[in-house]
Amino acid sequence: MNVTREMFADVMVPNYNPAAMVPVRGEGSKVWDQEGNEYIDFAGGIAVNALGHCHPEMVAALKDQSEKLWHLSNVFTNEPAIRLAKKLTDATFAERVYFANSGAEANEAALKLARRWALDHHGEHKDQIISFKQGFHGRTFFTVTVGGQAAYSDGFGPKPGAIEHATYNDLESLKAIMSEKTCAVMMEPLQGEGGIISPTAEFAEGVRALCDQHNALLIFDEVQSGVGRTGELYAYMGLGVTPDILTTAKALGGGFPVGAMLTTAKIAESLKPGTHGSTYGGNPLACAVAEKVFDIINDRELLDNVKRKEQLFRDGLNAINDKYHVFSEIRGKGLLLGCALNEDYAGRSRDFLVASTKTKLMCLVAGANVVRFAPSLVIPDEDIKEGLARFEQAVAAVVNGQE
Ligand SMILES: *Cc1c(COP(=O)(O)O)cnc(C)c1O
Repeated sequence: MNVTREMFADVMVPNYNPAAMVPVRGEGSKVWDQEGNEYIDFAGGIAVNALGHCHPEMVAALKDQSEKLWHLSNVFTNEPAIRLAKKLTDATFAERVYFANSGAEANEAALKLARRWALDHHGEHKDQIISFKQGFHGRTFFTVTVGGQAAYSDGFGPKPGAIEHATYNDLESLKAIMSEKTCAVMMEPLQGEGGIISPTAEFAEGVRALCDQHNALLIFDEVQSGVGRTGELYAYMGLGVTPDILTTAKALGGGFPVGAMLTTAKIAESLKPGTHGSTYGGNPLACAVAEKVFDIINDRELLDNVKRKEQLFRDGLNAINDKYHVFSEIRGKGLLLGCALNEDYAGRSRDFLVASTKTKLMCLVAGANVVRFAPSLVIPDEDIKEGLARFEQAVAAVVNGQE
């Protein structure tokens, strides 16, 4: 069958609007389309391809497991799942792991656990979940309602209740709605989709203190910020604030769908047999790949290199901005970076993305005012250099009114 981009609209539900070209192959931080055009990948599959495309050790892990065992369901356990859980708990605050297939599912589990924990230990009245405006936690109905953009949860009928939103980096706004009824606060320790917003140290510490004061659980959604993205294994480690529940997905599988919810042994007790589950969660193929990804990324040298590569990006982006004056700020941490557009280019992040695709660079946006980069954590320095040169051409095209 001769597949074309035009066929998309004929066979797909119209909820996405993908780029005009169709990628067919990837290697490291390069991708090729149907016409053989080569792209530099600064998007990383939205912070997923943490080791680039088709990393040989991931390919080997997948091939190896694919000849042993693909699926069992949770009626049986399997070796890759137990090994990965052991490694996740050894490397973090957590003592127990629940496996899912995506970030939203990991968050769904976290929220359900928090509600059960509150019921078990405090009673029915303690059901309030607080999260933050502009936050993003996935697209299931519970997680999208907890997310901080009502536009994403409106129009689907009655929403799950007892969910409220405070303002990120504004401790007073949280304090004002928090009480003994609060069962959990869910936050990203670096807002991704919301525009690449880092929490201040006072805010992160203050949220933790308020949770302690009101006997509420602190849930860190590290679906985007986790697994080396910020130059730490998990962003909470860089903040020095430890959550009670942490969710991880995206980079965890490096491109294979997998998610996980991590928590303490005590809190985990509330997910008793039968309370929650998933057909594929803990699937041996997913866990074998994730184990390999985790082994490679949980390494101080690799993580320090993420911080060095961040500086290459910052230097290059600042140089572009000195020339074209388009950004008000370069922000983010590690290899999750956002270029906030200044007033002259307000609302035009998509123009920069479209212009970048034309110069053979894949990048992302985070809302209408931020161009986002989330490349492979092991992107070669020369690909960073070449990608930034292409980005400069794209910026020039926007500035000169060609986009
Ligand atoms: C992407 C993302 C999710 C949703 O993950 P899916 O795998 O798409 O369900 C949840 N939280 C954050 C912070 C994310 O960036």
